[in-house]
Amino acid sequence: MVIKKVNLDIVIGVTSAIPDTEFPEVAFAGKSNVGKSSLINALMNRKSYARTSSQPGKTQTINFYNINDAMYLVDLPGYGYANASPAVKAKWGKMIEKYLRQSANLKQVFLLVDIRHDPSENDKMMYNWIVDNGFRPVIIATKLDKLKRSQIAKHVKAVRAGLGLKEDDILIPFSSQTKQGLDELWNTIEGYIGQ
Ligand code: GDP
Repeated sequence: MVIKKVNLDIVIGVTSAIPDTEFPEVAFAGKSNVGKSSLINALMNRKSYARTSSQPGKTQTINFYNINDAMYLVDLPGYGYANASPAVKAKWGKMIEKYLRQSANLKQVFLLVDIRHDPSENDKMMYNWIVDNGFRPVIIATKLDKLKRSQIAKHVKAVRAGLGLKEDDILIPFSSQTKQGLDELWNTIEGYIGQ
């Protein structure tokens, strides 16, 4: 995708209605700190447009980045703050569920997990939740540059096994630092949005 124009068009909070957008959407989910902002910035070819390093307690919003007036990259709020209150967690869950259920233009959900670690209980819950909402999520295994080349296959296998992926489920190893996986990711996104 040649990025000509990016704009944060829509930001919605817990009480907002899910917007009727004009363009197809793909959404990104993952625990906080997994590298979601960095990945979205890499996709947009920007250094720091998407909010980075989410802090505990910061506003939980869903952000819609308009790409070339052709599609949206949708940044879902990160999960897994150990110290988030049950009220915050409940609000977070409701907002994401509403989005997954109600967005008419959502074409695919990408779930980010750290390639170095076995998926957490929260990762598995999120995966199952996305599946329950009718999607077969594409997994993005982030921070690929932190592994030695010889370790990659073993870690990919562990992530696949941990999430219970089927053979034809897609997993893309990715690094925002080296941009490994970026072309494959864009090709995959374009496949879902029909471009
Ligand atoms: P978010 O909370 O999921 O949005 O995560 P961020 O994108 O803010 O990244 C969290 C931390 O991980 C930051 O310190 C990033 O610099 C770092 N990070 C993100 N992606 C990568 C990556 O691909 N490689 C490495 N080495 N660090 C990364």
